[in-house]
Amino acid sequence: MQKYWNEKFETMQENALRAFQVKKLKETVSWVYERVPFYRARFDEYGVTPDDVQSLEDLSRLPFTIKSDLRENYPFGLFAVPSQECVRIHASSGTTGKPITGGYTQEDMAQWGECMARTLWAAGVRPTDVCQNAYNMGLFTGGLGFLTGTETLGATLVPTGSGQTERQIILIQDFKSTVIYSTPSYALTIAEKAAELGINLRDSSLRIGIFGAEPWSEEMRREIEERLGIVAMESYGLTEMGGPGVAFSCSEKKGLHINEDHYIAEVIDPVTEEPLPLGEEGELVLTAIQRKAMPLIRYRVRDLTRLYRESCECGRTLLKMDRVRARSDDMLIVNGINLYPSQIESILLEIPEVSPQYVIVVSKHGYLDRLAIDVEARKEIYDLGEEKLREVEIKIQSRIKGTIGLTAHVRVVPYKIIERSEGKAKRVIDQRP
Ligand code: ADP
Ligand code: ZN
Repeated sequence: MQKYWNEKFETMQENALRAFQVKKLKETVSWVYERVPFYRARFDEYGVTPDDVQSLEDLSRLPFTIKSDLRENYPFGLFAVPSQECVRIHASSGTTGKPITGGYTQEDMAQWGECMARTLWAAGVRPTDVCQNAYNMGLFTGGLGFLTGTETLGATLVPTGSGQTERQIILIQDFKSTVIYSTPSYALTIAEKAAELGINLRDSSLRIGIFGAEPWSEEMRREIEERLGIVAMESYGLTEMGGPGVAFSCSEKKGLHINEDHYIAEVIDPVTEEPLPLGEEGELVLTAIQRKAMPLIRYRVRDLTRLYRESCECGRTLLKMDRVRARSDDMLIVNGINLYPSQIESILLEIPEVSPQYVIVVSKHGYLDRLAIDVEARKEIYDLGEEKLREVEIKIQSRIKGTIGLTAHVRVVPYKIIERSEGKAKRVIDQRP
């Protein structure tokens, strides 16, 4: 039985892989220098030319590309081919501001299909599977990225898109879907709707889920596995790099393998901008080395992670990255303490009375920050009365105080008060001026 989608690249020895990366990096640097005025100007400003790149170490001589570079060159300013040569144009969901565009040549599409097919294969998807795609299937790269990968692999695709949750559940049953693709938060919305309809999805044909596009905790992963009766796998990517397919989880279910023959990953200290050694946490920086329409050089992703190379039980040699805990933009500083939404999520999900529906609200009271958490209880807990709910609030508050050191104003809010997610969940409301 075929173990990998692409054995050659997924299990390549480090030396051979490095040699391949250097060759592709050099090609890409020349490609953008010759074709993208933005890059030529930026390289000239830094006094570097494509000839200065002879090894992977030389990468650190190149300037970074940042999100505002994309915004300032919106929509097609960073394209390395005329936009007419693109066969596809996507845009980011714009979670953090003005959308970002990404173009694809025919070759880029094939490459995307390849990276996504590896993701799906590693998750256990085979050509006999029926894959229900509950990612939004529009400009957002998630939906069509999964479609492309499924077509490349040759499984059956059911393009439901996100939303119409009741119909998702009916189609899982009628079409006997075996695989589901969605954001983790939408998977929970589906699980909850099924429970309301009295349908136990654990008994359904579903066996695998592939989730991504937003940060989620290990506790959330287990919750989804439990509620849907599936193995929950993961995909990571971003519009700027073409979409999902940058990194993927394997049977070890610990960390994600980076498609290193397509993307060179670095981690830097976000303040000093110095590259950090393997194993240290910092900001992820990616360079696309095989893309044609819009390859970005040293793009500061603003996601925080750690890179490590160790022998993985799955046999892949590809570099690994930790699950992305948070975007650096999402890090809250509350009364001087750094806080990630996923830390709160982990604590909440360890409390059996609580459901994974929550919102974190930060506001200003005088000189101090005020941290409030609205969370729903599991449905049956509401029947136990007000006193029980107050007890749960106190329990959460003391866990947060104990682990993070912050005083949180915790409210168990009525069932279904928190807006259910169909895509990327909004977990933080920062009301501070
Ligand atoms: P937007 O910035 O508008 O959300 P994208 O749809 O391109 O645009 O989203 C890319 C971002 O989504 C990534 O930079 C990362 O923050 C997040 N993301 C994608 N996949 C994952 C994942 N598996 N785990 C955590 N975060 C993820
Ligand atoms: Zn592995």
